[in-house]
Amino acid sequence: MTAPRDRLAGRLQAVGASPTLQVMMEAKALRARGVDVIDFGPGEPDFNTPENIKKAGADAIAADFSHYTETSGIPELRQAIAEHYRGRYGADWGTDEIITGCGGKNVLFLIAMALFEPGDRVAIFAPYWVSFPEQVRLSGAEPVIIPTREADGFTPRARDLEPHAESLRAVILNSPSNPSGATIPPDEVGRLAEFSRATGILLISDETYDAFHYADGPYASFAAHEKSLHDRLLLVNSFSKTYAMTGWRIGYALGPKSIVGAMNKIQSHDATHTAAMAQVAAVEAMRGTQGTVLAMRDEYRRRRDELIPALNRIRGIRCLQPAGAFYAFPNVKGAMQALRCPSSVEFARRLMSEIAVATVPGEAFGVPGYLRLSYALSIERIRAGLDRLRGLLGEAGG
Ligand code: PLP
Repeated sequence: MTAPRDRLAGRLQAVGASPTLQVMMEAKALRARGVDVIDFGPGEPDFNTPENIKKAGADAIAADFSHYTETSGIPELRQAIAEHYRGRYGADWGTDEIITGCGGKNVLFLIAMALFEPGDRVAIFAPYWVSFPEQVRLSGAEPVIIPTREADGFTPRARDLEPHAESLRAVILNSPSNPSGATIPPDEVGRLAEFSRATGILLISDETYDAFHYADGPYASFAAHEKSLHDRLLLVNSFSKTYAMTGWRIGYALGPKSIVGAMNKIQSHDATHTAAMAQVAAVEAMRGTQGTVLAMRDEYRRRRDELIPALNRIRGIRCLQPAGAFYAFPNVKGAMQALRCPSSVEFARRLMSEIAVATVPGEAFGVPGYLRLSYALSIERIRAGLDRLRGLLGEAGG
């Protein structure tokens, strides 16, 4: 018997459809019926790209900067990225150790394609960003999910990797975290770096939300360990969240020349590079005023400071104070019980159908019993959403 012509590649068999899709489809259908949905779902800034960055992109188009560029990105951009990490962390990545691509997601995918293959095991802490395990699976490797603890602030710990050290090829870290907002404290960053040094396990650090860090003291980047981890550290970042540039599709990685070279080889046969004008805009983003970034950070912090205490005053909801990113990740097990919901997917569905509040259930991030609420929406909408949640669930202790 011959295989059907529409047979899909085997590598897709292990890759799941997003559990968020159902909720998103319902939100869309409700909106189409004229319902005012309060959307805590989106993983993108509600701000527009700052004017100076837009102008740089528009000027690049007007100047016909619209031809192919270097696969790894224009030298000015890689230079600006190198200077940023040298200035802030004293890191020594050269321009041939930097690759830009079509968003942080694409760059992470290039890393997976360059490094992982069947038989490899890659550690990912849960709750995790949805694409980490799926990209590992698409490479043919196996994601090893390591739970974190709510009581420990969902902090990834080096000691939880130790039992797996023998068999791991790499670990993917994400601080501040999507979805929990957890930020790895400097001492644990040191321990994770030491773990990588001692074991040789590759450390992939996704620092997409580094600009939105609200705790006291500076953000703890793995870039500070660049010199001692040089042959085993890959640092990923993106312009999407920091500069509200999601649609421009531009992200980057810094790492050993051999790995960045392999990523370039793959990109040369795939996207070729990200858009020329987006690269010029990204140079302005890095070299121009950072005041707009600080203003966005302050506004996210204001929203967080309003949202979290209010969530904790709702019956059946308990929420940690996230130290970074723009997500709240409350434990909703009590509220699920009150509404007799067997899963947080079902709970999110009820919030959608009964009070038109869109959230993403914890199942999407590997931890049922929680919801992700983005606070990339106006404070008025946040308040309106909270009113609806209070109406449905009641006040704590009330
Ligand atoms: N990493 C994390 C943790 C994210 O949340 C996202 C986007 O949601 C990305 C990477 C990728 O963003 P982009 O591809 O827009 O740069």
